[in-house]
Amino acid sequence: MRDETGGNVASVASRTGCVELGHGCYAWIAGDAGWGMSNAGLITGRGESLLVDTLYDLRLTRTMLDALTPLTATAPIATVVNTHGNGDHWFGNQLVTHAEIIAARGSVADMRQVGPAEMLALTNMDSPAGHFARRIFGRFDYAGIEPALPNRIFDGETVLDIGGTEVRLIDVGPAHSAGDTIVHVPQARTVYTGDIAFAGAAPVVWHGPFTRWLAACDLLLGLDADIVVPGHGPVTTKQTVREIRDYLEYVHEQAAARFTTGMPVMDAARDIRLGRFADLDESERLAVNVHTVYRELDPALPPLDGPGLFGCMAELCPRV
Ligand SMILES: [Zn+2]
Repeated sequence: MRDETGGNVASVASRTGCVELGHGCYAWIAGDAGWGMSNAGLITGRGESLLVDTLYDLRLTRTMLDALTPLTATAPIATVVNTHGNGDHWFGNQLVTHAEIIAARGSVADMRQVGPAEMLALTNMDSPAGHFARRIFGRFDYAGIEPALPNRIFDGETVLDIGGTEVRLIDVGPAHSAGDTIVHVPQARTVYTGDIAFAGAAPVVWHGPFTRWLAACDLLLGLDADIVVPGHGPVTTKQTVREIRDYLEYVHEQAAARFTTGMPVMDAARDIRLGRFADLDESERLAVNVHTVYRELDPALPPLDGPGLFGCMAELCPRV
């Protein structure tokens, strides 16, 4: 890995669990890769701390909160930021309702649309989409989760003071989802990206437009930050952001070229060769990404619902 911090990132990149990043910042890195195995973060100040995201179910979130206790005993979690509205970044909120929970307006809209009940229904469907969802999400327990939505919504940008530590929230969405917040801690030269950055896996453009995500990458690349905590995968650097940007540009260009020739959307997804991006995990996300490009180019195309999107990926990658 290219190291932009004089050894700091390289030394933490292979670690899982609670990883210390310096200047009171920590990453909670999932011990396993794959769909739904998301990261979180903790930013500690004097006497209080901020949690970046909860996890996909209560068991995972409880394990994380217990492991963070040595840090949060003297700096309790007073603020939670949900980077976006996908369940793997907020379904554990009911365990932190003592805190102020903040999210971007678009993220809260996403949360209202797809909560644990909808994920439970998807994984119980008797269809290729349901089978695929069970294969990738079967390890999570959605039963018994009470949706705990944010109690503070922000638009655009806001700055928080967490016990003397400046924390900047910037909504760079809609891109991955309807609202995508990055959490920047200038004094730690650290940014938590949510799912604007995946390390080692393909990005999935649920919402788009692609241009917003490319702009988000440019914003991240221009930040005064060396340490990048992605939504999924190990602690990394801006190099991962550059790779995500390249992937998005390539897929958009390839899909648009096929749209122009009149090729049907799933034929295009099957036809595109990923080249240097072929090794990224969860490559089946290409089906969703091509569909998003087609909808950008032809707004009359109806949007796919959750089962429709998971059905596309099952069709593209039946072995998953
Ligand atoms: Zn995620």
